[in-house]
Amino acid sequence: MESEFQRLPSVDRLLSEERIKQLQESYPRVLVVDLIRQCLERERLSIASGKPCPSLDEIVESVCAQAWALSHPSLRPVINATGVILHTNLGRAPLSQEAIVAMDATAKGYCNLEFDLDSGTRGSRHSHIEHILCQLTGAEAALVVNNNASAVLLALTALARKKEVIVSRGQAVEIGGGFRIPEVMRQSGAKLVEVGTTNCTYLADYEQAINPRTAALIRVHSSNFKLLGFTYSVTLEELVALGHRYHLPVFDDLGSGCLLDTTKFGLDPEPMVQQSIALGVELALFSGDKLLGGPQAGIIVGKKHIIDKLKRHPLVRAVRIDKIRLAGLSATLIHYLENEAVIKVPVWRMLSTPLEEIEKRARLYAQALASSARIIEGESMIGGGSLPGGTLPTRLLALGGQGKRKNKDLAQAIAQRLRCQEPPIVGRISDNLLLLDPRSVLPEEDETVLESLCSVIADLGHPY
Ligand SMILES: *Cc1c(COP(=O)(O)O)cnc(C)c1O
Repeated sequence: MESEFQRLPSVDRLLSEERIKQLQESYPRVLVVDLIRQCLERERLSIASGKPCPSLDEIVESVCAQAWALSHPSLRPVINATGVILHTNLGRAPLSQEAIVAMDATAKGYCNLEFDLDSGTRGSRHSHIEHILCQLTGAEAALVVNNNASAVLLALTALARKKEVIVSRGQAVEIGGGFRIPEVMRQSGAKLVEVGTTNCTYLADYEQAINPRTAALIRVHSSNFKLLGFTYSVTLEELVALGHRYHLPVFDDLGSGCLLDTTKFGLDPEPMVQQSIALGVELALFSGDKLLGGPQAGIIVGKKHIIDKLKRHPLVRAVRIDKIRLAGLSATLIHYLENEAVIKVPVWRMLSTPLEEIEKRARLYAQALASSARIIEGESMIGGGSLPGGTLPTRLLALGGQGKRKNKDLAQAIAQRLRCQEPPIVGRISDNLLLLDPRSVLPEEDETVLESLCSVIADLGHPY
């Protein structure tokens, strides 16, 4: 053991290595020395755990690799061939061309973010987006913050801190990544009073929980799960009526923020923001980057006297949205106003792509496989905590086996190689097959998918 430690080169010895010298032409010497020290420390731990001392070359290689990784962004574009349109791990909604242009223009220079060009005095960042949000949703007022989780946190902190908020037990949901809505709510200092049972909550359950400490009733979209069988839940209409009777505001955490009728695309109905406002909720809260198809944002629309309270709360500063996303969101909302969302907003374009079109694109990908190409029927998912269980029929390119001869290792090997492409391509593995769904791929990425498939298959060099 002792001798293995002694075989580790010194910092000076490494600094005199040719490749490390070259490294110092691109990076400051202190950084290189730091990386060498970190590398030697890792190797000491590795030797202590019983591994042999690496060669000098290996250590040099490791230091160079660390320097390379530091100066190359780890966050990069990928092609989403999973068929999950709002894939939270892959960054949710891709943006429209107009949104990208607006964000680019705002990023480049200065803007009138909080400056009134008419009067030449201080303005409000909320002013740029409030009118259009009110127009689209029918609400009296609107406020945009960092994301929907912070919108919920802000609303409950400002309006229900040290008081009680009543929620159905069936709506106390975890929205993924171990992230639980009730825990966010509790951070506000409001006491969450869960009523009913997992599958059934009646109006009487809410009513019995109301007491002088009650600050609000809240409905939470079940997002990513569906209750089947013997279930009962209160309609928003009934909840609003109950709220009115007891002079309590009703908050609607819609999650996805849908402004279009999903049934027109063969999907289940997804609650729409306009409906909640029309039914009289005091606040409706939703994300900018789910079904709305814009950049990450949390949008709150509702009654003016309540939104005004939120705008004045100190937390609003801690959760505020930046100028770039504000520009992107604004451009996205204009698509809805101009009735062009289905063609311009990528999420809706994907949702509404006809099956024949998907099949044509799957056949294009299949050109990479010559004769044994397999296009199968399948389902695309909406994802992103909207339309729980909602799927659309699709066509998939299946790789990694033919007929009954499926080869799990082959499917994994192809998937791994596709992830190493530039840009990486991510598919999904199901029933020992690697499936590529054109629906969630941007049409302009199709050629890249085909080229990458060709190169991966040539590389594998045997039947797939
Ligand atoms: C997704 C979701 C949230 C969180 O929204 P973010 O914009 O991701 O912060 C909150 N509530 C519900 C019901 C959701 O579906």
